[in-house]
Amino acid sequence: MSTIAAISTPVGAGGIGILRVSGEDALKIADAIFVCKKKSAAETLRQNPLKLCFGDFIAEDFRDRGYAVYFPADKAYTGEETTEFYLHGGVRIMQGALAAAVAAGARMAERGEFTKRAFLAGRMSLADAEGVADMINAESAAGLRAAYRLMDGSVAKRINVIADRLLEVMTGLEAVLDYPEETEDEVLPPLGGELEGLLSEVDSLISTARRGRIAKHGITAVLAGRPNAGKSSLMNALLGEDRAIVTAVAGTTRDTVEGSFECDGVRVNLIDTAGLRQSNDVVESMGISRAVQAARNADVVLLVTDTTREDDGEYDFGGVRVFRIRNKCDLTSYACPRMRDCFAVSAKEGVNVEQLRHAIAALYKEGEVAGEELITSERHVSALYRAKSALKSAIEAIDGTVDCVLVDLREAYEALGEITGRTATESIVDNIFSKFCVGK
Ligand code: GDP
Repeated sequence: MSTIAAISTPVGAGGIGILRVSGEDALKIADAIFVCKKKSAAETLRQNPLKLCFGDFIAEDFRDRGYAVYFPADKAYTGEETTEFYLHGGVRIMQGALAAAVAAGARMAERGEFTKRAFLAGRMSLADAEGVADMINAESAAGLRAAYRLMDGSVAKRINVIADRLLEVMTGLEAVLDYPEETEDEVLPPLGGELEGLLSEVDSLISTARRGRIAKHGITAVLAGRPNAGKSSLMNALLGEDRAIVTAVAGTTRDTVEGSFECDGVRVNLIDTAGLRQSNDVVESMGISRAVQAARNADVVLLVTDTTREDDGEYDFGGVRVFRIRNKCDLTSYACPRMRDCFAVSAKEGVNVEQLRHAIAALYKEGEVAGEELITSERHVSALYRAKSALKSAIEAIDGTVDCVLVDLREAYEALGEITGRTATESIVDNIFSKFCVGK
């Protein structure tokens, strides 16, 4: 494999910029682009692994002063010899530094190529690698905590326990096929309990998917209700900024307006929609149908009503959880009945807005089990469902032949292996790393 190079820090001016070089020529390239005081860069770095070595970076048309460090293959992220250069973080400096590494024989790294090499070298599972990308992209504390458990191998470990057990069962059954000393009636029935146990393990992982999705992408809360109920005002109050346009003319919010905030470590994505009412205006009507659509895809609908007016009607949000918000409570003495999911607020005066923020964020806590690993990725969820249905078929096939059970167990094993990478195809692997950033 060729030696690759990339700038690992974001483009822009910053205190430090990092150039990373990985592959068998890492030291040779360091020698061409870095000079240390007493000995050659290659010698200095090799003799001081994992230590910062001070020196000058030599680009084609300038020098910078900084540090270089050498990671021997067994200590490097990629599992192959790596050198890193810590320079001043200027755009032009880093461009020149990368160009110097390329001129010295490196190839520019593709997206996620360092992590891909780490995966191919067996230093991490595919799920761990996805955890690295999730760490970088996380937008909330909950997202970071879930990503960390993916990155540190906790999720892969749970999957592997199931997969290893499946492998043992499969090996046992294959032996029965090869040396039929025992009959199918003897070996199959006792497996029932074991397979049920594995199925419930898969199920318990699947049951974390709702929270996993929220950890990664946030809670989607849609503001709905009659025009002028105060949806846009509430949106701004929840966001703490003037995001939506607020006017006294009914029908101002014709399309959806979005914004997000973090509360108690959870990201909340707010969508303000067009008011729910009959309209002859084509654009407004489109906005209204979008509003209903958005509400049906949400985690929670904030159904805003004006307490000074008659509450007029029920809406069908397709079973989505609804928080009833009685807005403009500053104008009346109305207090919300002490009902679950019912809130009296004043968007204008900020009354109870903070409580509402916490109540929305608390939806994440529902169904929480201490210390659990969360399944955060669609890819993992769909693989788990495939494993589940294959395991179910295997259990049903226990009355039949060893062959039939084996086919189902192999399918379950393959599905689980796609998550950790044991059985992932090249195209799955390529697709995952193509979504990484360059330099990681
Ligand atoms: P939307 O059409 O549901 O988005 O409603 P808006 O947010 O545009 O508000 C409609 C009108 O109600 C505006 O004149 C707001 O100033 C007013 N309003 C919104 N919230 C409150 C509130 O809590 N108290 C009072 N007194 N007026 C409010």
